[in-house]
Amino acid sequence: MIPPQREALSFEILILYDKAEAEIERGLEVANRKVGLFGGTFNPIHLGHLRGVEEVREAFGLQEVVFIPVAIPPHKATEEVIEARHRLEMVKLAIMTNPCFSISSVELDRPGKSYSIDTLQYFRERDENTSLFFILGRDAFVEIETWKEFQRLFSFSNFIVMTRPGFGKSPLHAQLPEALVSAFRYDHEIKAWIHTSGHTLHFKEIRFLDISSTKVRELIERGESVKYLIPAGVEAYAKEHGLYRKNR
Ligand code: ATP
Repeated sequence: MIPPQREALSFEILILYDKAEAEIERGLEVANRKVGLFGGTFNPIHLGHLRGVEEVREAFGLQEVVFIPVAIPPHKATEEVIEARHRLEMVKLAIMTNPCFSISSVELDRPGKSYSIDTLQYFRERDENTSLFFILGRDAFVEIETWKEFQRLFSFSNFIVMTRPGFGKSPLHAQLPEALVSAFRYDHEIKAWIHTSGHTLHFKEIRFLDISSTKVRELIERGESVKYLIPAGVEAYAKEHGLYRKNR
């Protein structure tokens, strides 16, 4: 339909016309909304997590990244993992200065072990119009074959794997675990893998700060400084609650 000349419209019609246009724009925005999902034990959350996800958010134009602390991680020794309420609180403190970061307690609200397949299904069903991007580090991705129903994960969401600098030079055939090869084809134009469901799998090189929660816990246990490895608010919280200070 050819839009009428604005000058020919009455004031009331103009208002209705502008309103309709704004509605359409809002609708398109909602339809194009890209949301990142970043799960982790966050025991505790550190600057490596935050910087990596910020680089991914910017590169892929994600409007929001939801941090999702796991309740009981299926692949980790649980005796080291402190109470969920402390990990949740520390994530809240860590993300509060970034308006694009949010937190979900969906895995903490579910009884038993946390499986990504249930979480992805939850987010997929909650909002069908959003494009989902599940974000994880390469160390986690190489173990994906051990995850519950790992083949189905890609039917619910796109994936972004954060890699260390230089990963881009590795041969394509070395990027995917054997069990995933038949479900993906590489698209040279978009430089990403495409799943049979149509979802994409990107490998994204990030600066990769050499920090891990294990290192942070070890430093605190030894009474050493963790300044500039975790956000100041998280450091203060851990200190106040005597977290990770075994036998002290
Ligand atoms: P731990 O040392 O206790 O194993 P972690 O530091 O690996 O913990 P997790 O909470 O297990 O932290 O990680 C959550 C996600 O963050 C995983 O996908 C992991 O690959 C990724 N990740 C961990 N450390 C970094 C880092 N320094 N930079 C970018 N991503 C990271």
